Amino acid sequence: MKLVRQPTTAAAASEPLELEAEVAVVGGGLMGLGIAWRLAQAGRTVVCVDAAAAGRGASWAAAGMLAPYAELDFDEVELLELAESSQRLWPEFAAEVAAAADADVGFDPCGSLVVAVDRDDAEAQERLFAYQRSRGLDVERLGGAACREREPLLSPRVHSGTWSPGEHQVDPRRLLPAVEVAGTRAGATVRRGASCARVEVSAGEVAGVAMADGGRVRARQVVVAAGAWSRAVDGLEPHRPPVRPVKGQMLAVARDPALTLGHVIRSPDAYLAPKADRWVVGATSEDRGFDDRVTAGGVWELLDGAYAVVPSIYELELVEVWTGFRPASRDNGPILGGCDVGGLFFCTGHYRNGIQQAPASIDGVAAAVLGRRVPASLAPFGVGRFGAAPRGVR
Ligand SMILES: Cc1cc2nc3c(=O)[nH]c(=O)nc-3n(C[C@H](O)[C@H](O)[C@H](O)COP(=O)(O)OP(=O)(O)OC[C@H]3O[C@@H](n4cnc5c(N)ncnc54)[C@H](O)[C@@H]3O)c2cc1C
Repeated sequence: MKLVRQPTTAAAASEPLELEAEVAVVGGGLMGLGIAWRLAQAGRTVVCVDAAAAGRGASWAAAGMLAPYAELDFDEVELLELAESSQRLWPEFAAEVAAAADADVGFDPCGSLVVAVDRDDAEAQERLFAYQRSRGLDVERLGGAACREREPLLSPRVHSGTWSPGEHQVDPRRLLPAVEVAGTRAGATVRRGASCARVEVSAGEVAGVAMADGGRVRARQVVVAAGAWSRAVDGLEPHRPPVRPVKGQMLAVARDPALTLGHVIRSPDAYLAPKADRWVVGATSEDRGFDDRVTAGGVWELLDGAYAVVPSIYELELVEVWTGFRPASRDNGPILGGCDVGGLFFCTGHYRNGIQQAPASIDGVAAAVLGRRVPASLAPFGVGRFGAAPRGVR
């Protein structure tokens, strides 16, 4: 197979839009498409516009780990509650998308094994493990031999690990198109190659979105779900979401039937997520704006980290490299729900865990748009927590 270097975005020419709907959704990543689907299911007319010709945002770039515990920080209690509520929704969400789109979305309740290769890693994991247990999480510490028993391809250097049976994975490359099919089958209109320049607001109420090519979607409600690009949409003052891109480089190796990984493996330097046809290895984390270059250093870092825990990767064919941009908010929490501008809603800023947090975020924001009860787990994540940015400040 030839090594493919995937572009992260692609522009497409399109006719200027002149549409009217009850809701316009800006951004056709997992968040935007999922919300469009839910709103269409509820009988709303909805138009979802995406600037790229094909879905190439963070949702396409992601590894698809559904791992609320592995990257847990000690003080992120509200985020953990949101993540746990989302994790409970995942099996049903995956089944519902699969049925609505007649597609396999690669949902795999495989569990994850976070491994340590030296004593320092192990000590850090012990501290996290103690905290995870204090929260009642289903996790188990394993010695090196027990780790290898569970996952025979692990290196003899693996010192110990934490086994999380409740952490799953999905294949974003299958999920994203399936959610789009589910949405369009439910009646949503999805327009690609359609870049929104500005949200139009009149007398404190949303009036629609103005497109970069001069087109327009008239709508009384707008959901901003433009991922790492959300801050660049004009007209959002005083609530321009403070979201920045955090670059991640990724690669994939072809799967060899003789070499089996049964779980997601994470080490301090890389993770391996085994999909049906390949292993996905990620990811760097770089504050470099929208620099979409794949670098020799990035690929080396990933392969070095993966090789340290699964040496057999050395033999496998490198089939793809790519980058993506995590949408990181100022406090790393997502930005969800409405604000004091009538009809304006947000679903962005999910940073490293947007796939995992998707079911709760999508359902919660859709409920807000529909005027239904919004789950309490979304309450800490309103755009209002950042205060009102002065006009003109970006
Ligand atoms: C390398 C990498 C690995 C990751 N791994 C995981 C993981 O294993 N598990 C996990 O839970 N999360 C992971 N994430 C994070 C996750 O991918 C994101 O948090 C999530 O996908 C964000 O979804 P989104 O819909 O908000 O953004 P995106 O998927 O980026 O979608 C935003 C969309 O908005 C469109 N857009 C932008 N501007 C405009 C505009 N002006 N008009 C119209 N459209 C616009 C873009 O074209 C894009 O399609 C990873 C991210 C990266 C980059």
